[in-house]
Amino acid sequence: MIKVTGYAAKHSFSRLKPHAFEREEAGAHEVEIEVLYCGVCHSDVHQVKNEWSNTVYPCVPGHEIVGRVTRVGPATKRHAVGDLVGVGCMIDSCGQCEACQCGDQNYCGSPNSWLATYNGPMLPKSKVGENIYGRDNTFGGYSNIVVVKEDFVLKIPAALKPEVAAPILCAGVTTYSPMKRWGVKAGDKVGIIGMGGLGHMAAKLAKAMGAEVTVFTSTAEKIEEAQKLGFKGVLEKDKKALAALSMQFDFMLSTIPEKHDLNPFLDLLKRDCVLCVVGALEPMAPVDNMQMALKRRMVAGSLIGNLAETQEVLDFCAEHGIGPEIEMIRIQDVNDAYKKVEKGDVRFRYVIDMASLKEEIDAA
Ligand SMILES: [Zn+2]
Ligand SMILES: [Zn+2]
Repeated sequence: MIKVTGYAAKHSFSRLKPHAFEREEAGAHEVEIEVLYCGVCHSDVHQVKNEWSNTVYPCVPGHEIVGRVTRVGPATKRHAVGDLVGVGCMIDSCGQCEACQCGDQNYCGSPNSWLATYNGPMLPKSKVGENIYGRDNTFGGYSNIVVVKEDFVLKIPAALKPEVAAPILCAGVTTYSPMKRWGVKAGDKVGIIGMGGLGHMAAKLAKAMGAEVTVFTSTAEKIEEAQKLGFKGVLEKDKKALAALSMQFDFMLSTIPEKHDLNPFLDLLKRDCVLCVVGALEPMAPVDNMQMALKRRMVAGSLIGNLAETQEVLDFCAEHGIGPEIEMIRIQDVNDAYKKVEKGDVRFRYVIDMASLKEEIDAA
């Protein structure tokens, strides 16, 4: 076993605190990674606070992991010691179901679905036959070492700064996957609803794809931020401005991380076009089917992205010289960072410099 130090929440109203635990050594097809940077995703906050009612404690969050390979299992082929690599939201899937066979590991249809980087699997180990992963909990990237099956480890292109690459592993692929699915292309008009960690990344990706991007957001301050990054900004409550944009958009992506009303945006879609929701994972207010039917519009959902898309978006960002706007923090400041994430007070993604964890390891 490997001794690991991380930051964990012990219960739903706990602050994250130093936590010592053990991981299994790398198996034949696994790699051991020294974590260098880990992004702070809004879902880390949801999960730590048990807002999806499925959190297993202790909870060591973190699924935007960039690090250096320090050991490899004897049968590994894809990665070598010293490689700069990334781990996103998944570390395994069944590999057998129809979705996995299509390469869509993120929609794995096995009884306990894909294995989440932290707080997975969903079913306890005691559910033999249903829990295919033989483990009760997983611990994420707010830790100094992770051990991951090599197929679920991505290559970080040399042209990307490793700390900038981290949020691409969740925020990047979550917004890239639906834009690719629904064919966003040069010349399209794309609307991005919400201007946080996901939203600003979505806007940058859409622009790099050649689309004309409009950001819909809640405050004048955020409109200014959008303009600074080179996007048109519209206040989502400005009914006049929305009315003027009727039937203009080829694709819209909602990145707001909680339930919200989609109806004000439906009429902005052209005929046969899609509004996809990636930010909220909860029941939403009903949509007005008159607005949908009149122009055969669609409202859709999408969950992160598959492994191939994750590598693709990393390579795409490297090629186009884009990446998230990040603010680096020390792990000791993560609880304050969570409060700002909850208030939408972050510009735009916190990334933890895991070198700061060394103090806790030395103290242990
Ligand atoms: Zn995430
Ligand atoms: Zn599967």
